[in-house]
Amino acid sequence: MSTAIVWLTRDLRVHDHPALRAGTDEADHVVPVFVMDEAILADTDAYANANKRAHLHAALTDLTSAMRDLGGALVKREGKVPQVLAQLVEEVGADVVHTTADVSGYASRRLEAVRDALDVEVVTHPGHLVHHPGTITTTSGGAYRVYTPYRRAWAAKERRDVLGPPDAISLPSGVEVGRTPSRDDLLRGTSPSPDLRPGGEQAARADAARWLDGAVDGYDDQRDDLADDATSRLSAHLHLGTISANELADRADQRNPGADAFVRQLAWRDFHHQVLAEDTDRAHTDVRDQGDDWDHDEDLLEAWRTGHTGVPVVDAAMRQLLDEGFMHNRARMVVASFLTRELYQDWREGAAHFMAWLADGDVANNQLNWQWVAGTGTVSRPNRRFNPVTQGERHDPSGDYVRRYVPELRDVEGKAVHRPWDLDDDVRADLDYPDPVVDLDTALDRFRAARGID
Ligand code: FAD
Repeated sequence: MSTAIVWLTRDLRVHDHPALRAGTDEADHVVPVFVMDEAILADTDAYANANKRAHLHAALTDLTSAMRDLGGALVKREGKVPQVLAQLVEEVGADVVHTTADVSGYASRRLEAVRDALDVEVVTHPGHLVHHPGTITTTSGGAYRVYTPYRRAWAAKERRDVLGPPDAISLPSGVEVGRTPSRDDLLRGTSPSPDLRPGGEQAARADAARWLDGAVDGYDDQRDDLADDATSRLSAHLHLGTISANELADRADQRNPGADAFVRQLAWRDFHHQVLAEDTDRAHTDVRDQGDDWDHDEDLLEAWRTGHTGVPVVDAAMRQLLDEGFMHNRARMVVASFLTRELYQDWREGAAHFMAWLADGDVANNQLNWQWVAGTGTVSRPNRRFNPVTQGERHDPSGDYVRRYVPELRDVEGKAVHRPWDLDDDVRADLDYPDPVVDLDTALDRFRAARGID
């Protein structure tokens, strides 16, 4: 009788799961295990903010029921991953461990430590991305640094078949299943955003169905409209793997322009992962050094983090992040540009704050998108700036996005909300809303001088 362990990380689903299917297809008994990684749970800021913990709880709860419905169980353990898995291999007499390949520095070091600690083979499978890093390379065999040729190669490459859930899971007898941690156990005193959307595989599948069965149609035209909220909102599900990117790409009908544009966004996700996989230091060091000598002003940073900069669309976006553990993509670009251009603060400060709040906060996507906006990453126009006032007027023409998140401006009608400084003095005096923290006419001087722009 053969026994396989399936070590689950951020692939918390039963649908389209190559590692899980390798276990159930090839072995007589399967032990799906999730290890509460002590190192991750101890880090409340980056890898495991409160919003991700809440989603992790939902994902583990759903997975526990799904595994039970398949006749098996989700085994839960806590501690240092290599030691826990070594003990489990011995306990169940496993012949092999299957897991889903990941790319961050932390994930790579952890896999190496697991391999060192185990006497059995650890087999990695695709599952996080549509196309895993290394499967699409330039002619010299490296990662792509430019998105457009990458996307062309990505689109031309055949995707793997979407897998259904296993028919059944047969757990060996006598395995200690372990307790599903309660929400409080996982939150450890941290508080998720009040308007965080639900996590877990059930919510992910319902959200994906709602999206692909209609809402995606308007994506091509409306996705940049801040108030419309016309994007999929699937990023947090993709982050914990409660839905598979490969399945989403497969189910999206690309004859429809909305669905086609959506699939192209999934290519961005793969693109950033292959840039990081080539050199995991890129999570913290500039891909392309622009000679920046960033300021560090704690007051400006705090005004930005809390949404009190006096620039309405920036404040709305920063408060959306705190309220929902999410921020619209266009708004992410605007606030990142404002931090690194007008405020001339280090992109790493912004990226760290995003990681502390985003339910989808992801080393590859977050750090490399920050570098893209800061101009230190894989970007063809490194000095491009998103003017926060005109971006607000263009992408929130009704002003509804600002009024939704900035109650101090609720009584200002229409798009005048984007320039409160132009309101009549008596109206302005009644608003409990600050002037911009920097003079918008001269704020770019510091950035321009540093980058040598006339
Ligand atoms: P949709 O517009 O519906 O897109 C579908 C999916 O495509 C997304 O769920 C996401 O998985 C992927 N996607 C879309 N745009 C991008 C992109 N530019 N880069 C990579 N993948 C993309 N995305 C994250 O998943 N995690 C992050 O930590 C993250 N940090 C970001 C930081 C900054 C400064 C910027 C500018 C962007 C960041 N993004 C990040 C990318 C993007 O903003 C989010 O993926 C998107 O807003 C999620 O909303 P959605 O699911 O409704 O996206």
